[in-house]
Amino acid sequence: MLDLGEQQITSTQDQVFVSCKSCGYRQNIKAWELADPLRIICNGPDCGDTYSIKEGIKNAITSDNDFMAWCFVSDTIISGHDTIVIGTVKEIKLKIPIRNAKKVFILQTAPLEADSHSRIYLEHKIILPDILLIISSGDSVTSGKPCDINWVVYADVKSDSEEAWREYLQRAKESIINGNYQGAIIEAEIAVEVTLATVLWDLLTRKKKLSDDVVDWILSKVQAASDRAKKVMELAIGKKISDINPGVYKSWVKLVAQKRNRIVHRGEPATREEAIDAIGAAFEIIWLLLELADKEPVGSRNRDKR
Ligand SMILES: [Zn+2]
Repeated sequence: MLDLGEQQITSTQDQVFVSCKSCGYRQNIKAWELADPLRIICNGPDCGDTYSIKEGIKNAITSDNDFMAWCFVSDTIISGHDTIVIGTVKEIKLKIPIRNAKKVFILQTAPLEADSHSRIYLEHKIILPDILLIISSGDSVTSGKPCDINWVVYADVKSDSEEAWREYLQRAKESIINGNYQGAIIEAEIAVEVTLATVLWDLLTRKKKLSDDVVDWILSKVQAASDRAKKVMELAIGKKISDINPGVYKSWVKLVAQKRNRIVHRGEPATREEAIDAIGAAFEIIWLLLELADKEPVGSRNRDKR
């Protein structure tokens, strides 16, 4: 438990929320505690199954649980513990300025001793860049009484992410939460395409040692994502994505790329299940691409910089 007024700031790149496919149990894994990325042991009651970090993240981002989504949609989590006086406005200054707040949770930590039937209402307002207002109201019994609360702000703090795929998968997940399933599939495809372009650029310049001009020219000649995944990837590493992992490649083409085209060109509707499948398939190929470029997604970039 945090002390009053203390704030905890966590980067979502340093911790990942994973979920077990067998039992659905959720765990929060700190990047620096991760011993074996291929073997996370589920702590769920009577489970004990093992899964890889990749499977765990995929289960989490494709799960129905909104909480899992909110962990994924921001780059930083700021949390704290304060006492408010019911009926007044409490102003909390966040320790770091934020660019926007994706989600705010405010939780009363214990029932008021005065009267268990009395209810209090908690609202919040963020004033950028660093003010969280907590607005409370109660009845004649609760007004003026102190009340302990925990709060959590899921915020974007960093400037534009170097990892654009996160941004688009975040948007896709938000679209699912908002019931925009067509939008979710379109954004999942953008997430794959930006990753593909970034990874190809990296492989062609860094490993293949081609000049920026030449790589620009190649990528401008080959615009279609499927051609990039085959021809340009073969040029870069001697193999097509479809040869490296046919299952992952086919799922992307079928569940994301082709579905996206039918949505965009023919206005085809999409279901929630199709959107969830598309995010899962997009995540699989994004992970594969990042591995090819030695950019493992969990915490590695941060670790390198330290
Ligand atoms: Zn489990």
